[in-house]
Amino acid sequence: MARIVVLGAGFAGLWAAIGAARKRDEIGAAGSDIEILVIDRNPYHNIRVRNYEVDLSEVVLPLSQLLDPVGVDHRLGDVETIDVARGTVTIAVNGAHDVVVYDRLVLALGSGVPRPDIPGLAANAFDVDTYAAAAKLEAHLAALGRSAPAPGRTTVVVVGAGFTGIEVAAEMPDRLARAGIAGGRIILVDPNPVVGATIGERARPVISEALAALNVETRLGVRVEAMDAAGVRLSSGEVIRTQTVIWCAGMRASPLAATLPVERDRLGRILVDPFMRVADLAHVFAAGDVASSLVDGLHATVMSCQFARPMGRFAGHNVIADLVGQPLLPLRIDWYVTVLDLGGWGALYTEGWDREVRTTGAAAKATKQIINHQRIYPPLTGRKEDLFAAAAPTVQAAPARK
Ligand SMILES: Cc1cc2nc3c(=O)[nH]c(=O)nc-3n(C[C@H](O)[C@H](O)[C@H](O)COP(=O)(O)OP(=O)(O)OC[C@H]3O[C@@H](n4cnc5c(N)ncnc54)[C@H](O)[C@@H]3O)c2cc1C
Repeated sequence: MARIVVLGAGFAGLWAAIGAARKRDEIGAAGSDIEILVIDRNPYHNIRVRNYEVDLSEVVLPLSQLLDPVGVDHRLGDVETIDVARGTVTIAVNGAHDVVVYDRLVLALGSGVPRPDIPGLAANAFDVDTYAAAAKLEAHLAALGRSAPAPGRTTVVVVGAGFTGIEVAAEMPDRLARAGIAGGRIILVDPNPVVGATIGERARPVISEALAALNVETRLGVRVEAMDAAGVRLSSGEVIRTQTVIWCAGMRASPLAATLPVERDRLGRILVDPFMRVADLAHVFAAGDVASSLVDGLHATVMSCQFARPMGRFAGHNVIADLVGQPLLPLRIDWYVTVLDLGGWGALYTEGWDREVRTTGAAAKATKQIINHQRIYPPLTGRKEDLFAAAAPTVQAAPARK
C-alpha cells in the first residue's frame, strides 16, 4: 500500500485530499491500495477568510463530515518536522511524538501573521488569523460589553492596513454593536503613508471613503512601539488607551517551509511548478499560502483562498497521477479579482492585476456574501459524488459581478 500524506486541512489541504481521493477513485484504486491521510492540529476545516466577521457560528466544519465520505483518513497532530530524505513527518499528539511515513507528500500548512518582538505584543494583542484566535477576540469583545466603563474599553486599535486589517476595522462597528458597546472608537494603524498600500491606487479612494463613513480613524506612517493591557504607544509618541489591539500586519508562510532544502520567496513560500511539484524535491507537492506558482506564466499566486483552493485540487489530482505514472495536469488561471469587505458600507470588487474597480458598496457586498457563504464552502451534503465534483481539477470562472 502507498500512502499520500497531506499536511494541513485548510483551503489547499482539504481540496488536495478530496482531489486525491477523487483521482484514486477514477483510476479504480481503493483505500487499501492508496491511503490518503490528512494531518492537522485542528479537527476542523476553518473558513479562515471569515474570521473577521460578526458571526463566527459557521466558520468551522468538522473534518469527519468532509473526509469520511470520500475515504480520507485524518489525524490530529502538530507537524513538527519534515524529513524529505527519509520520507517522514514527525507529529506531536497530546505531548507524544509520532513518525508518519509517506510515499508522496502534499505540504499545505498555510501561513500566519508574523508577531514581531514588540514589548507587550505577545501577551496583549489579538488577531483573526485562526479560528481559535478569532473566537478569543469574540469572547473578549463580549466580556467588554458586559464590563463597567473604563479607560480604553470602547477603543479598538487595528494594526496593519492591508486586506485583513481593513476588513477587521470595517467590520468592527457592527461587532461592537453586537457586543453592546456604544460610542466605540476604531483606529487603524500602519507604517505606510496610505491605507491599503499594497492594494493599489485605484482602489484606495473607495477604501478611504468607506472607512470615513464608518468613522474609522487612521494613524499612518507610524509604528507600534509597545503595548500593554491598557494601551499602545506609537512611534509618533502618541499613546492610545485601549483594551483591544488586533494585530493584522502581514502574512508569512508556515515556518516549516523554511526547513526544506529548497528556494523560497520573500514571504517564505516554496516555489512550485504548474503541477504543484516542489522544484528539486522528489515526491513533494505544495499548495496554498505555503507555495508560490506562476499562475499565468507571469504572475505569482497571491496568498488567498482564490488560489489555495485550485492549487489544492490540482495538487491532489497530480499527486495520485504521479504515484501511478499518469500525466499530470498544469494549473493555469487567467483571471484575478479581489473582493474586499468594507463592513456596513459594503465592499469593493476589483478585477485584474492592476485592480481596476468594478463594483463598490452594496453591489460588491452581494458578491462578497456569495463568496463567503457559498462559493468557498465545500458541499455539506455528506455525499461522495458532491465532494468529488467540487474537487475536480478545473478552474472556476471569476465570481459573478452584481
Ligand atoms: C481574516 C482573514 C481574511 C481573509 N480574507 C481573504 C479574502 O477575502 N479572500 C482570499 O482569497 N483570501 C483571504 N484570506 C487569506 C486566506 O484565508 C488564505 O489565503 C487561505 O486560508 C490559504 O489557505 P491554505 O490552505 O494555504 O492555508 P490555511 O487555510 O491557513 O490552512 C492551513 C492549515 O494548516 C494547519 N496547520 C498549520 N500549521 C500546522 C502544523 N504545524 N501542524 C498541524 N497543522 C498545521 C492549520 O490548522 C490549517 O488548517 C484571509 C485571511 C484572513 C486571516
